[in-house]
Amino acid sequence: MIKQEIFGMTLLEMQEALLPLGMKKFRAEQIFRWLYEKSAVSFEEMTNLSKSDIALLQEHFTLLTGQIKVLRELKSTDGLTHKVLLGFTDGASVETVCMHHDYGYSVCISSQVGCSMDCAFCASGLQGQERNLTAGEILAQVYYFQRLLSIQDARVSRVVVMGSGEPMLNLDNVLKALDILHEDHGQGIGYRNMTISTCGIIPGIKKLTEMGRTINLAISLHAASDELRTSLMPINKTYNYLEVIKAADEYSEGNGRQVMYEYILLAGINDSLDDARILANVLKHKNVVVNLIPANPVPEKGFKRPSGNAVDRFFQVLKEQKINVTVRKEMGKDIDAACGQLRASTLVGGE
Ligand code: SF4
Repeated sequence: MIKQEIFGMTLLEMQEALLPLGMKKFRAEQIFRWLYEKSAVSFEEMTNLSKSDIALLQEHFTLLTGQIKVLRELKSTDGLTHKVLLGFTDGASVETVCMHHDYGYSVCISSQVGCSMDCAFCASGLQGQERNLTAGEILAQVYYFQRLLSIQDARVSRVVVMGSGEPMLNLDNVLKALDILHEDHGQGIGYRNMTISTCGIIPGIKKLTEMGRTINLAISLHAASDELRTSLMPINKTYNYLEVIKAADEYSEGNGRQVMYEYILLAGINDSLDDARILANVLKHKNVVVNLIPANPVPEKGFKRPSGNAVDRFFQVLKEQKINVTVRKEMGKDIDAACGQLRASTLVGGE
C-alpha cells in the first residue's frame, strides 16, 4: 500500500482521507491542530488520539516534517539570522532562513528546488530547476522554525516566499501553503504578513489579483531599461518590465497593498545615477516602495557590491522624486550568502 503524505493537506482533504478509516470530522480537526498549530512532527505526539488511531495514521500516512534532514546550518554571530539547507526524502534540498526582527520572526521560504529563470546575479539557478515543491514541503520550511521557536514560546509572524524558485510557476502549491498558515487553527498568520516575490510572471500576478487576497507582492526589477534588464533577467524577453509594472499596478489597485520593487545594486552594472533616474521616472507617482539591495558577490557570476557612496547616491535620486525607498537592512552579514549559494556550494562539494 502506498502511504499518502498528510502534511500539506487542508482540513477538508484530511477529513476526506480519514473518513474511510472510520475517523470522524472532529478527529481530523484534532490532527489538523497537532500538525499546524502545535507543530507535531510525529503521530505519537498526538496525545489526545487513541493508540489504535495513531497506528492507523502510521499505517496509511507519512509525515514529512518528521523526515526532513538539516543538511547544513549557519547562524549569524549576532544570533538574529539562522539559515538551513533542508533535505527531503528524495534527495532534493532547499534553503530556508529565519530572521529575528524588532517586530518578530520572519521566515523566508523557497518554492521550487533550484530555479529555471536564470537571473544573472543569482546562485539559485546555477543548476537549473529540479522540481516544484509540494504545498507540504513549502509549509514544512516554516514549521521547521516554528517548532524551534515554540520552545521559547515564540512564533513565526511573517512569511516571505523569496527563497529559491519562482513562486508564480508553482502558485497553486504556494497559495495552498499560505492558506493553511492563515487558518485560525493553524498559525493564524494574516495575509498582510505574507509576501510573494516574483521576477515578473504576468499570468501569476493576474491570477493573484483575481483571488483578491491581501498578500504583499514584491517584484524583482533590478533594471529599468529593456536591454539591461534582459541581460540580467532573461524573463524580460517574455514579460517586459513595463507590462509587469502595469500588472503590479492593477494588483495594488485591487487590494490597496503597496507593491515592493526589489533592486539589487550591482557595481558598475545598474548602479549609476542614470539608472537611478530611469528607475525613478518609471515608478514615480505609484503606490510602491523600492528596496535597494547592495549585491552579495556571487563568485560564480563575477558581480561586485557597490560602494556605500554609490548606494547613497542612488537612494537620494529616488527620494528626490518622492518615491518610498529603503536600503535592505544588513542581517547576519557573516552568513549572508546570496540566495541559493548554500545549496549551490553543497551540490558542488561544499565551500
Ligand atoms: S532571482 Fe529568483 S527568479 Fe531569478 S534565478 Fe534567482 S530564484 Fe530564480
